[in-house]
Amino acid sequence: MDRRVKPGENGWARGGVSGTGHIVVIGQGAAGLSAALAAAEEARARNRAVAITLIDKAPEADAGGNTRWTPSYMRMASLDRVEPSFVHDMLEATKFLGDEGYFATLAAQAPATVKWIAAHGVPFHQPVYYLAKGPPRIQPVGGGETIHRELSRTARDAGVIFRFGCAADSLIADNGAIAGVRLISGETLPADAAVLACGGFQANAAMMREHFGEGGDEVPLLAPRARFNSGDGIRMAQQLGADVSGERDGMHIEPIDPRSRNQAPVVLLYPYGIVVDRTGRRFFDEGAGLVHETWEAFSRRLHFEVPGRTAYAILDARVRTIPDWQRATRSEVPPFEAGTLDELAKLIGADADNLAATVAAYNAACTGNPQKFDATVCDGLAASSSLSPPKSNWARAILEPPFLAWPMVGAIAYTFGGLSTDTGARVLRGGVPIPGLYAAGEITGHFYGTAPNAVSVLRAFVFGRIAGREAAGFASGAPGRSAG
Ligand SMILES: Cc1cc2nc3c(=O)[nH]c(=O)nc-3n(C[C@H](O)[C@H](O)[C@H](O)COP(=O)(O)OP(=O)(O)OC[C@H]3O[C@@H](n4cnc5c(N)ncnc54)[C@H](O)[C@@H]3O)c2cc1C
Repeated sequence: MDRRVKPGENGWARGGVSGTGHIVVIGQGAAGLSAALAAAEEARARNRAVAITLIDKAPEADAGGNTRWTPSYMRMASLDRVEPSFVHDMLEATKFLGDEGYFATLAAQAPATVKWIAAHGVPFHQPVYYLAKGPPRIQPVGGGETIHRELSRTARDAGVIFRFGCAADSLIADNGAIAGVRLISGETLPADAAVLACGGFQANAAMMREHFGEGGDEVPLLAPRARFNSGDGIRMAQQLGADVSGERDGMHIEPIDPRSRNQAPVVLLYPYGIVVDRTGRRFFDEGAGLVHETWEAFSRRLHFEVPGRTAYAILDARVRTIPDWQRATRSEVPPFEAGTLDELAKLIGADADNLAATVAAYNAACTGNPQKFDATVCDGLAASSSLSPPKSNWARAILEPPFLAWPMVGAIAYTFGGLSTDTGARVLRGGVPIPGLYAAGEITGHFYGTAPNAVSVLRAFVFGRIAGREAAGFASGAPGRSAG
């Protein structure tokens, strides 16, 4: 539903020196909402008339991108602190290809940004994560749905106009600077500045095939409503000559239960058992690290290399003795369950002889003290070196019926390749900012190697806010203040 606000109402500042400026924010996820809200506040603080319109391609019920459908864990030691190693950890995750200035800005601005988000009605707590401990995280109470609801409400109250079912198609430039946004409908919105916050290209079959090769276009979406994230903003900016960055063929992908109808039905129990393909054979070290350190490489292999693109986590009755074991899966569908491995193989359509041989070899290699088993940390309970592939942690024999199997396929959360931006969230062209063009969130290409866990929403907030402030300063003819 559109809500049109006239200049002077709500957050619209009066008295711009050279008439009303216009900002178009594209996308209603964490990045777009932060940008729109920050722009409205900045305009008001500067006493400038700036009209801010947030458009989203999706109908209102489906808008909100990945953000709305995620738990939105955020990598912070507490509400007002990131870990001292944050920047180093980011660079390590990006194989030291990431932009240190970008991550340093993220670390420096995260506490103030979270405080700002909280002040707009989003309460945070320190969540219990799946089973594995890891870097400390905070989380909005109610996850992404709370972000979506509260920031949409406060942005509306601040005078931002929302339009749904309204897809941006191209950017209009005048002398190299942003002058407007053309919609798919043919309508043109005037814009002194535009903020691209319309996600990655996970839902664009042609781009997925181009970047990931055969099968790239067949990776299921982890959040089905991310089907609107089809790389439009990347294409639009590239048409103006924007630079791209981020790992071209990088993606964050997780294992899910294909039988489930739940949103993002991840199966994260696999480190505590073994994983086999349909031939009944293992193909990787299930215990190489904490689950959020192995899920990406595993799921990618699962999709691109495993025949039939399906594998099974095989566990025994003892999984149910792990405290809170249910937290490690969001599938509502019970596992396949059988009294013998032979029956289990029949249920899942795997080769029974191979499965029996695989489990026997694995059990024989589980020579460590099972009392050491601890699902929450890398417990060092490794299988003996005779096992190939190895199992580095949680190597406990599969002995006690019933035997259980969860099917898994890989599903994409987001892509890494995107637009090149500076610490002021400005989109770069030949290394120089395109006047009036900003970008934040998943659309920006700052990840390489592996997705740093619990950083995507945080960076959408931080750089969304920066983009909004900068855009408001630009659209009102005054320099921005990207940090602080
Ligand atoms: C299941 C799941 C769990 C996750 N868990 C976490 C987590 O715990 N922590 C974390 O940090 N990250 C997590 N992520 C990743 C994170 O949610 C996203 O990367 C982040 O929310 C992206 O925010 P964004 O604002 O950039 O994009 P999005 O939230 O995806 O928003 C993009 C918006 O742009 C709109 N749009 C697209 N094209 C156009 C167009 N042409 N015109 C207008 N509008 C358009 C879309 O409709 C959408 O509303 C998870 C992802 C998934 C799928």
